[in-house]
Amino acid sequence: MENIKILKGFKILLSGMPDLSVIQMPDPETVAVSAMDIPYIRPKLLVKENDLVETGTPLFCDKRNKCILYVSPGTGMVKQIVFGARRRLKEVVIALDKNLDKNLDKNIDETDNFVQFETLSQDSIERVPRSKIINLLQQGGLWQCFRQFPFKDTADENHKPSMIIVSLNGNDPFSPHPQIVLENEIEFFEFGIKLLNQFTDRVVVASRQSSLQSLNGFKTYITHAVPDFYPSWDPAVVLYKLKKSRKDNNAWCITAEHLILLARFLITGRYPVKRVVTITRAKDKRPHFITRQGTPVKDLAGYLDDNSIITTGRFNGRIVDPLSHMGFFENTLNIIPDNQKQELLGFIRPGFSKPTVSRTFLSSLTKEPKDLDINLHGEERACINCGYCTRICPVDLAPSFIMKALSSDDIEDALSYGLLDCARCGLCSYACPSKIELTQILSNGMDAHYKDKQ
Ligand code: SF4
Ligand code: SF4
Repeated sequence: MENIKILKGFKILLSGMPDLSVIQMPDPETVAVSAMDIPYIRPKLLVKENDLVETGTPLFCDKRNKCILYVSPGTGMVKQIVFGARRRLKEVVIALDKNLDKNLDKNIDETDNFVQFETLSQDSIERVPRSKIINLLQQGGLWQCFRQFPFKDTADENHKPSMIIVSLNGNDPFSPHPQIVLENEIEFFEFGIKLLNQFTDRVVVASRQSSLQSLNGFKTYITHAVPDFYPSWDPAVVLYKLKKSRKDNNAWCITAEHLILLARFLITGRYPVKRVVTITRAKDKRPHFITRQGTPVKDLAGYLDDNSIITTGRFNGRIVDPLSHMGFFENTLNIIPDNQKQELLGFIRPGFSKPTVSRTFLSSLTKEPKDLDINLHGEERACINCGYCTRICPVDLAPSFIMKALSSDDIEDALSYGLLDCARCGLCSYACPSKIELTQILSNGMDAHYKDKQ
Protein backbone atom coordinates (compact mmCIF):
# COMPACT_ATOMS: atom_id res chain seq x y z
CA MET A 1 0.00 0.00 0.00
CA GLU A 2 1.28 3.43 -0.94
CA ASN A 3 0.75 6.60 1.08
CA ILE A 4 -0.36 9.60 -0.97
CA LYS A 5 1.10 12.83 0.34
CA ILE A 6 -1.57 15.54 0.47
CA LEU A 7 -0.77 18.67 2.40
CA LYS A 8 -3.76 20.92 1.86
CA GLY A 9 -7.39 20.57 2.92
CA PHE A 10 -9.75 21.18 5.81
CA LYS A 11 -7.88 20.14 8.95
CA ILE A 12 -10.30 21.33 11.62
CA LEU A 13 -11.99 18.59 13.64
CA LEU A 14 -15.77 18.78 13.16
CA SER A 15 -18.34 17.66 15.69
CA GLY A 16 -21.20 15.45 14.55
CA MET A 17 -19.34 12.39 13.24
CA PRO A 18 -21.84 9.48 13.03
CA ASP A 19 -21.11 6.58 15.37
CA LEU A 20 -20.84 2.98 14.17
CA SER A 21 -24.27 1.81 15.36
CA VAL A 22 -26.76 0.83 12.65
CA ILE A 23 -30.56 1.22 12.55
CA GLN A 24 -32.66 -0.58 9.95
CA MET A 25 -35.42 1.80 8.84
CA PRO A 26 -38.89 0.44 8.01
CA ASP A 27 -39.95 0.86 4.39
CA PRO A 28 -41.30 4.36 3.64
CA GLU A 29 -44.67 4.98 1.96
CA THR A 30 -43.01 6.45 -1.11
CA VAL A 31 -39.62 6.29 -2.79
CA ALA A 32 -38.39 8.33 -5.73
CA VAL A 33 -35.68 8.56 -8.32
CA SER A 34 -34.47 12.13 -8.40
CA ALA A 35 -32.93 13.70 -11.48
CA MET A 36 -31.57 16.60 -9.42
CA ASP A 37 -28.28 15.06 -8.31
CA ILE A 38 -27.32 13.52 -11.68
CA PRO A 39 -24.79 15.76 -13.42
CA TYR A 40 -25.54 16.73 -17.04
CA ILE A 41 -28.49 14.34 -17.47
CA ARG A 42 -31.19 15.16 -20.03
CA PRO A 43 -33.95 12.91 -18.77
CA LYS A 44 -36.62 11.35 -20.98
CA LEU A 45 -39.59 9.90 -19.10
CA LEU A 46 -40.55 6.28 -19.79
CA VAL A 47 -43.58 6.05 -17.44
CA LYS A 48 -46.66 8.10 -16.63
CA GLU A 49 -48.61 8.64 -13.42
CA ASN A 50 -50.60 5.61 -12.18
CA ASP A 51 -48.42 3.11 -14.08
CA LEU A 52 -47.60 -0.03 -12.08
CA VAL A 53 -43.89 -0.72 -11.73
CA GLU A 54 -41.74 -3.51 -10.38
CA THR A 55 -38.36 -3.04 -8.75
CA GLY A 56 -36.05 -2.55 -11.72
CA THR A 57 -38.66 -1.12 -14.15
CA PRO A 58 -37.12 1.78 -16.15
CA LEU A 59 -38.55 5.18 -15.13
CA PHE A 60 -36.49 7.48 -17.33
CA CYS A 61 -33.45 7.38 -19.55
CA ASP A 62 -30.74 9.85 -20.49
CA LYS A 63 -31.50 11.39 -23.91
CA ARG A 64 -27.77 11.69 -24.58
CA ASN A 65 -27.55 7.88 -24.50
CA LYS A 66 -30.95 6.24 -24.32
CA CYS A 67 -29.42 2.92 -23.20
CA ILE A 68 -28.64 4.48 -19.80
CA LEU A 69 -31.69 3.83 -17.67
CA TYR A 70 -32.81 4.92 -14.21
CA VAL A 71 -35.01 2.26 -12.67
CA SER A 72 -37.57 1.99 -9.90
CA PRO A 73 -36.14 1.25 -6.43
CA GLY A 74 -39.45 -0.26 -5.32
CA THR A 75 -42.60 -2.11 -6.37
CA GLY A 76 -45.80 -0.11 -6.58
CA MET A 77 -47.46 2.64 -8.60
CA VAL A 78 -46.10 5.87 -10.09
CA LYS A 79 -47.77 8.34 -7.74
CA GLN A 80 -46.40 11.62 -9.03
CA ILE A 81 -44.00 13.01 -11.58
CA VAL A 82 -42.56 16.24 -10.21
CA PHE A 83 -41.32 18.95 -12.59
CA GLY A 84 -39.41 22.12 -11.77
CA ALA A 85 -38.89 25.33 -13.73
CA ARG A 86 -39.16 24.94 -17.53
CA ARG A 87 -40.62 21.47 -17.00
CA ARG A 88 -37.30 20.09 -15.88
CA LEU A 89 -37.85 16.65 -14.37
CA LYS A 90 -37.21 16.71 -10.62
CA GLU A 91 -38.28 13.26 -9.46
CA VAL A 92 -40.50 10.27 -10.20
CA VAL A 93 -42.31 9.25 -7.02
CA ILE A 94 -43.44 5.65 -6.47
CA ALA A 95 -46.09 4.73 -3.89
CA LEU A 96 -44.82 1.40 -2.54
CA ASP A 97 -47.23 -1.54 -2.69
CA LYS A 98 -48.55 -1.99 0.88
CA ASN A 99 -49.47 -5.62 0.29
CA LEU A 100 -45.89 -6.78 -0.09
CA ASP A 101 -44.21 -8.57 2.80
CA LYS A 102 -42.69 -5.81 4.96
CA ASN A 103 -41.31 -8.10 7.65
CA LEU A 104 -38.46 -6.10 9.20
CA ASP A 105 -36.43 -9.28 9.75
CA LYS A 106 -36.37 -9.85 6.02
CA ASN A 107 -33.60 -8.32 3.99
CA ILE A 108 -34.85 -5.16 2.28
CA ASP A 109 -33.68 -6.69 -1.02
CA GLU A 110 -36.06 -9.68 -0.67
CA THR A 111 -39.54 -8.21 -0.26
CA ASP A 112 -40.31 -6.81 -3.74
CA ASN A 113 -41.48 -8.04 -7.13
CA PHE A 114 -38.33 -7.74 -9.19
CA VAL A 115 -37.62 -7.44 -12.88
CA GLN A 116 -35.33 -10.46 -13.26
CA PHE A 117 -32.15 -9.87 -15.29
CA GLU A 118 -29.56 -12.38 -16.49
CA THR A 119 -27.04 -13.41 -13.83
CA LEU A 120 -23.27 -13.90 -14.01
CA SER A 121 -21.26 -16.23 -11.81
CA GLN A 122 -18.14 -15.46 -9.78
CA ASP A 123 -16.09 -17.84 -11.94
CA SER A 124 -17.27 -16.59 -15.29
CA ILE A 125 -16.90 -12.83 -14.80
CA GLU A 126 -13.34 -12.76 -16.18
CA ARG A 127 -14.50 -14.44 -19.42
CA VAL A 128 -17.73 -12.51 -20.03
CA PRO A 129 -17.38 -10.03 -22.93
CA ARG A 130 -17.16 -6.43 -21.78
CA SER A 131 -20.05 -5.48 -24.11
CA LYS A 132 -22.36 -7.91 -22.31
CA ILE A 133 -21.52 -6.48 -18.89
CA ILE A 134 -22.08 -2.93 -20.18
CA ASN A 135 -25.42 -3.93 -21.65
CA LEU A 136 -26.58 -5.58 -18.41
CA LEU A 137 -25.51 -2.65 -16.24
CA GLN A 138 -27.19 -0.11 -18.53
CA GLN A 139 -30.46 -2.05 -18.60
CA GLY A 140 -30.28 -2.62 -14.87
CA GLY A 141 -29.96 1.10 -14.08
CA LEU A 142 -26.45 0.95 -12.66
CA TRP A 143 -24.01 1.90 -15.45
CA GLN A 144 -24.12 5.51 -14.22
CA CYS A 145 -22.26 4.45 -11.07
CA PHE A 146 -19.12 4.78 -13.23
CA ARG A 147 -18.16 8.46 -13.50
CA GLN A 148 -15.58 9.82 -15.91
CA PHE A 149 -13.15 12.69 -15.30
CA PRO A 150 -12.69 15.56 -15.71
CA PHE A 151 -16.41 16.41 -15.45
CA LYS A 152 -17.52 13.33 -13.46
CA ASP A 153 -20.11 12.67 -16.16
CA THR A 154 -21.49 9.16 -16.79
CA ALA A 155 -18.62 7.06 -18.12
CA ASP A 156 -18.33 6.62 -21.88
CA GLU A 157 -18.63 2.87 -22.51
CA ASN A 158 -16.42 3.14 -25.62
CA HIS A 159 -13.50 4.52 -23.64
CA LYS A 160 -10.90 2.34 -21.92
CA PRO A 161 -9.82 4.26 -18.81
CA SER A 162 -6.15 4.25 -17.81
CA MET A 163 -7.30 3.77 -14.21
CA ILE A 164 -10.46 3.39 -12.15
CA ILE A 165 -10.39 4.91 -8.68
CA VAL A 166 -12.56 3.24 -6.03
CA SER A 167 -13.29 5.59 -3.17
CA LEU A 168 -14.08 3.96 0.17
CA ASN A 169 -15.07 7.08 2.06
CA GLY A 170 -17.82 8.82 0.08
CA ASN A 171 -17.71 12.51 -0.79
CA ASP A 172 -18.32 14.17 2.54
CA PRO A 173 -16.62 14.25 5.96
CA PHE A 174 -19.77 12.56 7.30
CA SER A 175 -20.35 10.00 4.55
CA PRO A 176 -21.13 6.45 5.77
CA HIS A 177 -18.14 4.70 7.32
CA PRO A 178 -16.67 2.01 5.03
CA GLN A 179 -16.82 -0.51 7.88
CA ILE A 180 -20.64 -0.28 7.76
CA VAL A 181 -20.85 -0.14 3.96
CA LEU A 182 -18.57 -3.16 3.46
CA GLU A 183 -19.77 -5.28 6.38
CA ASN A 184 -20.56 -8.83 5.14
CA GLU A 185 -19.97 -7.70 1.54
CA ILE A 186 -16.50 -9.11 0.87
CA GLU A 187 -17.80 -11.60 -1.72
CA PHE A 188 -19.42 -8.77 -3.70
CA PHE A 189 -16.43 -6.46 -3.29
CA GLU A 190 -14.08 -9.15 -4.67
CA PHE A 191 -16.43 -9.71 -7.58
CA GLY A 192 -16.53 -5.95 -8.15
CA ILE A 193 -12.74 -5.72 -8.33
CA LYS A 194 -12.69 -8.57 -10.90
CA LEU A 195 -15.31 -6.61 -12.83
CA LEU A 196 -13.18 -3.47 -12.84
CA ASN A 197 -10.26 -5.48 -14.22
CA GLN A 198 -12.42 -6.06 -17.30
CA PHE A 199 -12.44 -2.32 -17.95
CA THR A 200 -8.95 -1.13 -17.01
CA ASP A 201 -5.38 -2.26 -16.37
CA ARG A 202 -5.14 -0.26 -13.16
CA VAL A 203 -7.55 -0.31 -10.22
CA VAL A 204 -6.79 2.17 -7.42
CA VAL A 205 -8.56 1.67 -4.09
CA ALA A 206 -8.00 4.65 -1.78
CA SER A 207 -8.87 4.81 1.90
CA ARG A 208 -8.56 7.36 4.70
CA GLN A 209 -5.82 6.46 7.19
CA SER A 210 -8.34 6.31 10.04
CA SER A 211 -10.50 3.71 8.25
CA LEU A 212 -7.67 1.24 7.59
CA GLN A 213 -7.74 -0.48 10.94
CA SER A 214 -11.41 -1.42 10.64
CA LEU A 215 -10.96 -2.80 7.11
CA ASN A 216 -8.69 -5.74 7.84
CA GLY A 217 -10.53 -8.11 5.50
CA PHE A 218 -10.13 -5.68 2.60
CA LYS A 219 -6.49 -4.69 3.15
CA THR A 220 -5.21 -6.73 0.21
CA TYR A 221 -7.35 -4.61 -2.13
CA ILE A 222 -6.46 -1.18 -0.73
CA THR A 223 -3.69 0.25 -2.89
CA HIS A 224 -3.40 3.76 -1.44
CA ALA A 225 -3.88 5.47 1.92
CA VAL A 226 -4.64 9.18 2.13
CA PRO A 227 -4.56 11.59 5.09
CA ASP A 228 -7.60 11.98 7.24
CA PHE A 229 -8.63 15.53 6.46
CA TYR A 230 -11.28 16.50 3.90
CA PRO A 231 -11.22 16.00 0.87
CA SER A 232 -8.04 13.86 0.60
CA TRP A 233 -10.11 10.79 -0.30
CA ASP A 234 -12.04 12.48 -3.10
CA PRO A 235 -11.22 10.60 -6.35
CA ALA A 236 -10.44 13.93 -8.10
CA VAL A 237 -7.76 14.65 -5.48
CA VAL A 238 -6.40 11.09 -5.66
CA LEU A 239 -6.27 11.35 -9.46
CA TYR A 240 -4.49 14.72 -9.30
CA LYS A 241 -1.77 13.12 -7.14
CA LEU A 242 -1.42 9.96 -9.24
CA LYS A 243 -1.79 11.10 -12.83
CA LYS A 244 1.27 11.03 -15.00
CA SER A 245 0.04 11.64 -18.54
CA ARG A 246 -2.80 13.29 -20.46
CA LYS A 247 -4.68 10.03 -20.88
CA ASP A 248 -5.12 9.85 -17.09
CA ASN A 249 -7.32 12.96 -17.32
CA ASN A 250 -10.17 10.72 -18.48
CA ALA A 251 -9.87 8.13 -15.72
CA TRP A 252 -13.08 6.76 -14.14
CA CYS A 253 -14.16 6.59 -10.52
CA ILE A 254 -16.76 4.70 -8.50
CA THR A 255 -17.64 4.52 -4.81
CA ALA A 256 -17.21 1.26 -2.90
CA GLU A 257 -20.95 1.22 -2.17
CA HIS A 258 -21.79 1.44 -5.87
CA LEU A 259 -19.21 -1.22 -6.72
CA ILE A 260 -20.99 -3.59 -4.33
CA LEU A 261 -24.35 -2.71 -5.89
CA LEU A 262 -23.02 -3.58 -9.37
CA ALA A 263 -21.68 -6.89 -8.13
CA ARG A 264 -24.87 -7.74 -6.26
CA PHE A 265 -26.95 -6.92 -9.33
CA LEU A 266 -24.84 -9.06 -11.67
CA ILE A 267 -24.77 -12.02 -9.28
CA THR A 268 -28.48 -11.97 -8.36
CA GLY A 269 -29.99 -10.40 -11.50
CA ARG A 270 -32.05 -8.07 -9.26
CA TYR A 271 -31.80 -4.32 -8.79
CA PRO A 272 -30.38 -3.77 -5.27
CA VAL A 273 -32.38 -1.17 -3.34
CA LYS A 274 -30.61 -1.11 0.03
CA ARG A 275 -28.56 1.98 0.88
CA VAL A 276 -26.55 3.09 3.93
CA VAL A 277 -27.08 6.74 4.87
CA THR A 278 -25.96 9.08 7.63
CA ILE A 279 -27.84 12.02 9.11
CA THR A 280 -25.89 14.52 11.11
CA ARG A 281 -27.29 17.13 13.42
CA ALA A 282 -25.40 18.86 16.23
CA LYS A 283 -25.99 17.26 19.64
CA ASP A 284 -28.08 14.33 18.30
CA LYS A 285 -27.43 10.60 18.52
CA ARG A 286 -25.91 9.82 15.15
CA PRO A 287 -26.17 6.22 13.97
CA HIS A 288 -25.97 4.90 10.40
CA PHE A 289 -29.31 4.03 8.77
CA ILE A 290 -30.05 1.19 6.40
CA THR A 291 -32.85 2.28 4.15
CA ARG A 292 -34.18 2.08 0.61
CA GLN A 293 -32.82 4.11 -2.29
CA GLY A 294 -34.83 7.31 -2.74
CA THR A 295 -36.34 7.44 0.77
CA PRO A 296 -38.20 10.69 1.65
CA VAL A 297 -35.89 13.29 3.22
CA LYS A 298 -38.45 14.04 5.97
CA ASP A 299 -38.46 10.37 7.10
CA LEU A 300 -34.71 10.52 7.58
CA ALA A 301 -34.40 14.05 8.95
CA GLY A 302 -37.13 13.67 11.60
CA TYR A 303 -37.91 16.82 13.59
CA LEU A 304 -36.95 20.06 11.80
CA ASP A 305 -37.25 23.55 13.20
CA ASP A 306 -37.77 26.59 10.98
CA ASN A 307 -34.16 27.65 11.34
CA SER A 308 -32.55 24.58 9.78
CA ILE A 309 -31.50 23.75 6.28
CA ILE A 310 -30.75 20.28 4.96
CA THR A 311 -27.77 19.69 2.70
CA THR A 312 -26.30 16.56 1.15
CA GLY A 313 -22.74 17.63 2.00
CA ARG A 314 -21.04 19.97 4.43
CA PHE A 315 -19.05 21.88 1.82
CA ASN A 316 -20.35 20.86 -1.59
CA GLY A 317 -23.78 19.26 -1.32
CA ARG A 318 -27.06 20.63 -2.59
CA ILE A 319 -29.75 22.11 -0.35
CA VAL A 320 -32.70 19.73 -0.36
CA ASP A 321 -36.40 20.32 0.13
CA PRO A 322 -37.69 18.30 3.14
CA LEU A 323 -40.58 17.17 0.92
CA SER A 324 -38.24 15.65 -1.68
CA HIS A 325 -36.43 12.29 -1.70
CA MET A 326 -32.79 11.19 -1.47
CA GLY A 327 -30.96 11.24 -4.79
CA PHE A 328 -29.26 8.37 -6.60
CA PHE A 329 -25.74 9.48 -5.55
CA GLU A 330 -26.60 10.89 -2.13
CA ASN A 331 -26.00 9.09 1.13
CA THR A 332 -25.71 11.77 3.77
CA LEU A 333 -27.94 14.52 5.12
CA ASN A 334 -26.59 17.37 7.19
CA ILE A 335 -29.12 19.31 9.21
CA ILE A 336 -27.49 22.67 9.81
CA PRO A 337 -28.79 25.59 11.87
CA ASP A 338 -29.56 28.62 9.72
CA ASN A 339 -28.00 31.06 12.14
CA GLN A 340 -27.82 34.34 10.22
CA LYS A 341 -28.16 36.66 13.21
CA GLN A 342 -25.48 39.30 13.63
CA GLU A 343 -23.20 39.13 16.64
CA LEU A 344 -22.71 42.29 18.66
CA LEU A 345 -18.99 43.17 18.38
CA GLY A 346 -18.34 39.69 16.95
CA PHE A 347 -14.98 40.78 15.57
CA ILE A 348 -13.48 41.34 19.03
CA ARG A 349 -14.87 38.16 20.60
CA PRO A 350 -12.32 35.38 21.19
CA GLY A 351 -14.44 32.81 19.26
CA PHE A 352 -13.40 29.68 21.19
CA SER A 353 -16.01 27.57 19.44
CA LYS A 354 -15.80 29.08 15.93
CA PRO A 355 -14.03 27.01 13.30
CA THR A 356 -11.41 29.17 11.56
CA VAL A 357 -9.15 28.53 8.61
CA SER A 358 -7.37 31.86 8.86
CA ARG A 359 -6.66 31.48 12.62
CA THR A 360 -8.67 34.65 13.31
CA PHE A 361 -10.26 33.09 16.41
CA LEU A 362 -8.75 31.48 19.49
CA SER A 363 -10.51 28.25 18.55
CA SER A 364 -7.49 27.51 16.34
CA LEU A 365 -5.53 26.86 19.57
CA THR A 366 -7.91 24.17 20.86
CA LYS A 367 -8.35 20.60 19.62
CA GLU A 368 -12.08 20.45 20.48
CA PRO A 369 -14.38 19.42 17.58
CA LYS A 370 -16.21 22.45 16.16
CA ASP A 371 -19.81 22.93 14.96
CA LEU A 372 -20.45 24.46 11.54
CA ASP A 373 -23.40 26.68 10.79
CA ILE A 374 -24.22 28.59 7.62
CA ASN A 375 -23.70 32.08 8.96
CA LEU A 376 -21.65 34.01 6.39
CA HIS A 377 -20.68 36.70 8.95
CA GLY A 378 -20.95 39.39 6.29
CA GLU A 379 -21.67 39.94 2.62
CA GLU A 380 -19.74 39.36 -0.58
CA ARG A 381 -16.91 41.82 -1.15
CA ALA A 382 -14.18 42.24 -3.73
CA CYS A 383 -11.24 39.83 -3.69
CA ILE A 384 -8.49 41.14 -1.40
CA ASN A 385 -5.80 38.79 -2.77
CA CYS A 386 -5.30 37.20 0.63
CA GLY A 387 -4.45 33.81 -0.87
CA TYR A 388 -6.48 31.71 1.61
CA CYS A 389 -8.25 29.95 -1.26
CA THR A 390 -4.90 28.91 -2.77
CA ARG A 391 -3.57 27.80 0.61
CA ILE A 392 -6.47 25.41 1.21
CA CYS A 393 -7.00 24.02 -2.31
CA PRO A 394 -6.12 20.29 -2.25
CA VAL A 395 -5.23 20.24 -5.96
CA ASP A 396 -2.91 23.25 -5.85
CA LEU A 397 -5.10 25.62 -7.85
CA ALA A 398 -5.23 29.38 -7.46
CA PRO A 399 -9.05 29.71 -7.44
CA SER A 400 -8.96 33.53 -7.41
CA PHE A 401 -6.95 33.57 -10.68
CA ILE A 402 -9.37 31.13 -12.30
CA MET A 403 -12.33 33.17 -11.08
CA LYS A 404 -10.86 36.32 -12.62
CA ALA A 405 -10.19 34.53 -15.93
CA LEU A 406 -13.77 33.22 -15.99
CA SER A 407 -15.24 36.62 -15.19
CA SER A 408 -13.45 37.99 -18.26
CA ASP A 409 -14.81 35.08 -20.31
CA ASP A 410 -11.26 33.84 -20.89
CA ILE A 411 -11.86 30.08 -20.74
CA GLU A 412 -8.43 29.38 -22.29
CA ASP A 413 -6.73 31.13 -19.38
CA ALA A 414 -8.98 29.36 -16.86
CA LEU A 415 -8.08 26.01 -18.43
CA SER A 416 -4.38 26.85 -18.41
CA TYR A 417 -4.67 27.58 -14.66
CA GLY A 418 -6.00 24.04 -14.18
CA LEU A 419 -9.79 24.58 -14.04
CA LEU A 420 -10.49 20.96 -14.99
CA ASP A 421 -8.52 19.65 -11.99
CA CYS A 422 -11.01 21.28 -9.62
CA ALA A 423 -12.57 18.68 -7.31
CA ARG A 424 -15.55 20.99 -6.57
CA CYS A 425 -14.84 20.32 -2.90
CA GLY A 426 -16.18 23.67 -1.69
CA LEU A 427 -13.21 24.57 0.49
CA CYS A 428 -12.16 27.73 -1.37
CA SER A 429 -15.64 29.20 -0.89
CA TYR A 430 -15.53 28.22 2.76
CA ALA A 431 -12.13 29.84 3.32
CA CYS A 432 -12.71 33.07 1.38
CA PRO A 433 -13.00 36.02 3.79
CA SER A 434 -14.66 38.05 1.00
CA LYS A 435 -17.50 35.47 0.84
CA ILE A 436 -16.99 34.86 -2.87
CA GLU A 437 -18.73 31.70 -4.10
CA LEU A 438 -15.57 30.45 -5.77
CA THR A 439 -16.63 26.81 -6.04
CA GLN A 440 -19.89 27.77 -7.73
CA ILE A 441 -18.06 30.07 -10.15
CA LEU A 442 -15.49 27.37 -11.04
CA SER A 443 -18.17 24.72 -11.25
CA ASN A 444 -20.25 26.89 -13.61
CA GLY A 445 -17.10 27.44 -15.71
CA MET A 446 -16.53 23.67 -15.97
CA ASP A 447 -20.17 23.08 -16.90
CA ALA A 448 -20.09 25.79 -19.57
CA HIS A 449 -16.93 24.25 -21.03
CA TYR A 450 -18.56 20.80 -20.96
CA LYS A 451 -21.58 22.12 -22.89
CA ASP A 452 -19.32 23.87 -25.44
CA LYS A 453 -17.65 20.54 -26.15
CA GLN A 454 -20.93 18.70 -26.82
S1 SF4 B 1 -10.61 25.23 -6.57
FE1 SF4 B 1 -11.89 25.24 -4.73
S2 SF4 B 1 -13.49 23.72 -5.12
FE2 SF4 B 1 -11.84 23.39 -6.62
S3 SF4 B 1 -10.56 21.82 -5.65
FE3 SF4 B 1 -9.67 23.81 -5.14
S4 SF4 B 1 -10.59 24.31 -3.15
FE4 SF4 B 1 -11.82 22.66 -4.04
S1 SF4 C 1 -9.73 33.76 -0.51
FE1 SF4 C 1 -11.18 35.16 -1.53
S2 SF4 C 1 -10.35 37.18 -1.12
FE2 SF4 C 1 -8.69 35.75 -0.70
S3 SF4 C 1 -7.57 35.56 -2.67
FE3 SF4 C 1 -9.10 33.96 -2.65
S4 SF4 C 1 -10.86 34.88 -3.72
FE4 SF4 C 1 -9.53 36.57 -3.11
